Amino acid sequence: MKVNILLCLTVLALLCEKAGAGTDIEALMARMTLREKIGQMAMITLNAVSKGQLPFNPAEPHELDPERLQRVIVDYNVGTVFNIGHHAFARDHWQAIITAMQDMATTRTRLKIPLLYGIDALHGMNFAFEATLFPQQIGLAATWNPDIVREAAKVTAYEARACAIPWVFTPNAEPGRNPVHSRFYESFGEDTHLAAVMTAATVDGLNAGDPAERAGATLKHFIGYSIPASGRDRAGADVSGHVLRETFVPPYVAGIKAGAQAVILNLSDLNGVPVHGDKRLVQELLKDELGFAGVVVSDWNAVDYLFFHHNVAPDSRKAIEMAVNAGIDLVMVPFDLGFVDVLEALVNEGKVSCARIDDAVHRVLTFKKELGLFEGPVTPANRHPLYGSQAFKDVARRAAAESLTLLKNNRGVLPLARTSKVLVTGFAADSMAALNGGWSYTWQGVETDAYVKGTTILAAIRDQIGAGNVVFVPTLPDTADAIETAVQAAGQVDAVVVCLGETPYAEVFGNIEDLTLHRPQLELAKGLAQTGKPVVLVLTQGRPKIISEIDKAMDAIVLAYLPGNEGGRAIADVLFGKVNPSGKLPFTYPIGPNALIPYDHRRAEAYAFKALYPFGWGLSYTRFAYTNLAVTPERLDPQGRLTVCVDVKNTGERPGMEVVQLFTSDHFASIGPPVKRLRGFQKIGLAPGETKTVTFTLTAPDLAFVNAANRLVAEAGHFTLTVGQLTKTFALTSNWP
Ligand code: BGC
Repeated sequence: MKVNILLCLTVLALLCEKAGAGTDIEALMARMTLREKIGQMAMITLNAVSKGQLPFNPAEPHELDPERLQRVIVDYNVGTVFNIGHHAFARDHWQAIITAMQDMATTRTRLKIPLLYGIDALHGMNFAFEATLFPQQIGLAATWNPDIVREAAKVTAYEARACAIPWVFTPNAEPGRNPVHSRFYESFGEDTHLAAVMTAATVDGLNAGDPAERAGATLKHFIGYSIPASGRDRAGADVSGHVLRETFVPPYVAGIKAGAQAVILNLSDLNGVPVHGDKRLVQELLKDELGFAGVVVSDWNAVDYLFFHHNVAPDSRKAIEMAVNAGIDLVMVPFDLGFVDVLEALVNEGKVSCARIDDAVHRVLTFKKELGLFEGPVTPANRHPLYGSQAFKDVARRAAAESLTLLKNNRGVLPLARTSKVLVTGFAADSMAALNGGWSYTWQGVETDAYVKGTTILAAIRDQIGAGNVVFVPTLPDTADAIETAVQAAGQVDAVVVCLGETPYAEVFGNIEDLTLHRPQLELAKGLAQTGKPVVLVLTQGRPKIISEIDKAMDAIVLAYLPGNEGGRAIADVLFGKVNPSGKLPFTYPIGPNALIPYDHRRAEAYAFKALYPFGWGLSYTRFAYTNLAVTPERLDPQGRLTVCVDVKNTGERPGMEVVQLFTSDHFASIGPPVKRLRGFQKIGLAPGETKTVTFTLTAPDLAFVNAANRLVAEAGHFTLTVGQLTKTFALTSNWP
């Protein structure tokens, strides 16, 4: 009996070993044992191969633990290591530890398969000293400039590679549909089209350089993660099938088309079914229908979540079976090597097929090959001379400058005169942490000021107008102690710049009960407004904190989002007129905590709909006039093209950039049409007096929506098209497709 079982297991193992032959990868796979294959499906955190306890103390040097490393890489054949030891390292240290790991993988394992290393790089290579830190995604979206987003991604890939890291867990493709969610700032805002364009630009940028400068891109978190019903991170969402396809699928399609190599899954549940165990979403939708041929990655510990968090599996073993059968290729374990043993047993018992294992391993190895890891897993240390260079900082400064969104500017109080004397106050005024938010040097981003001696808003203002013209009153984010001092100091100056917003957070640590800006900050702003001095509010925040109580009292408001390390300078550039602001809101700025309604709501919601500032809003120091909107033909055949032209003129005195936004509204449809949808945009620069004609081309698919039968359709009928304040009506003559 025992012999029979052993024979069976050997045959099964041999069958698994034999699968596939032909190309390099297939030849390699043909030589792999089942256990070696499963090792390639495991992803272990750096913490698990490092010395010491968690979390590492940044004051102590980080060291790999040779014994743990040997166990993970040699004994268990683990093919991927990821993440950080909870704090950033110098580039040399990254190079050294990854070289050591690669050496072990490529000399001490039987098949010498190089290791894959992946890292969260959300706004630049944010876990390395001296790397370039860009605005967080929400700020990049506010630039409405895919070119700058592409450039930023290119720098991120370059700097990751400079640290010997070939794979980054970015971009976050999903539109942020709940502004309470702590990961809202990781999104490109609430709109599907904007998110799709920016996702594609990011993937493009990550893959753009030569092989030593590229990094693998990851779309996340598939799917429906960014709309938690309660607003709490890792909480579930209820989204109907057609809304899922309408709102969440297109950015993934754009990212896949642009060449994204990996997708990380949503670790929460959708309509009660945890995504990590949902074959319909992972295998059928993502892989079969959307044609994703890359690596599907589980999120942190999320396979086990099926067991102890979602309670859809009675134990960890069943959770692994469900997840791998759902279509997951690479499991972010992140500590427990038992995953390898369990999956091996599941295959031997016939609960997971060899074909499924082979599909997963083929994807992982192909990814390694595409990244050039078989040719030399570590690029030489001197290969990336531009790491942390001024040229890269300039890109970050431009990105930050283009993101800054001027929400209001009463009586043209901005730009401030360079000769003015200014009070600078608010907790965010002298803080690099406030400029960067979470995922900056550390996961939570709270220790940023210990890691980088950058230019804060205060320092940048001092540089611009001279320290002698700046009075600084520091305050804390959540106590009212310094309000009186600040109010008194306002008496000595011409204008006040008050810097408020959020302190850093990431994931569940950013869960909140109330979206309203902290009371002490509101009180500080009110106190300053009562002095009668012009008050400019600068907001550094990852989500739209409710400011309706102080909005009217502020003379000007600059929304800076989380603009990154060059954000301080960019803000000063806007405050004193070196830069004409051109950022536009990538979300609806809510008027109250119970009014979290995106701009593309349905008509029934439109009754008495109010936003503090609408989606797409943002002022400039110049003015733009829109004329001559022309739409041809007036009757569009479903196979035809609609050409939309509009003249945009800079009628003010300064050069400026304008984002020309095109919206359509479907008059009638088989399911309630949204009031409007963004269908195109272009950012243009105009000199004073200059006019440009902007042209858009639309086809029937650009007018389409997902109907109740989950099909993408454009229905015949009338549409209103809006650009600026101008509108035109046209008709689609028959249904598409
Ligand atoms: C997050 C992912 C991240 C992963 C690895 C998870 O908790 O949800 O976005 O990539 O951790 O750090």
